[in-house]
Amino acid sequence: MPGPRFSICVFCGARPGLNPTHAETGRATGAMIARNGWRLVYGAGDVGIMGEVARAAQGAGAATLGVIPTHLITAERGKTDLTQFVITEDMHERKKVMFMNSDAIVVLPGGAGSLDEFFEVLTWAQIGLHRKPIFLVNAQGYWQPLETLLAHIVTQGFADATMLGLYTSVPDVVSLEAALRTALS
Ligand code: AMP
Repeated sequence: MPGPRFSICVFCGARPGLNPTHAETGRATGAMIARNGWRLVYGAGDVGIMGEVARAAQGAGAATLGVIPTHLITAERGKTDLTQFVITEDMHERKKVMFMNSDAIVVLPGGAGSLDEFFEVLTWAQIGLHRKPIFLVNAQGYWQPLETLLAHIVTQGFADATMLGLYTSVPDVVSLEAALRTALS
């Protein structure tokens, strides 16, 4: 049987956050990836929104690739029952392996780690290192302050306006699914 045609890298919180709808956004994302026959690539943790995405994707039959550095296996409860569970030496290698094995990047609500991951793929795109589509899921307006900051950076002359075209903001998982289908077709 052929493997999944596309792999979707999901960056998101290792915590659930205070708004319970973010967990639902995570579950809907996992189920959506499975429904489309895609593979989930993520940080291999079984905590927070990460765990929600992974359990939903896995439960709905998606292939899963998890990548986690040795020192986080305990803290982020490494989910060893994934289709592939890869252990890296450090965070840099983790992000590289996740990125290299993905066709598109999705950023759900999360904290500083999710921001680090978003900015890495955004800045790599900015300097022409890749053209993989990046989707920011602005669920419940969670990422609005980030979008305001990015626009501010442009209006203050620290980035070209084209930077804002290097990612696509979507309000929910329904829009994310449509955007991913278009981008990957
Ligand atoms: P957070 O959004 O802060 O909950 O973190 C989400 C995920 O990003 C967690 O799995 C963190 O371990 C991971 N993370 C945090 N900082 C980094 C980093 N510098 N490089 C790669 N992953 C990170």
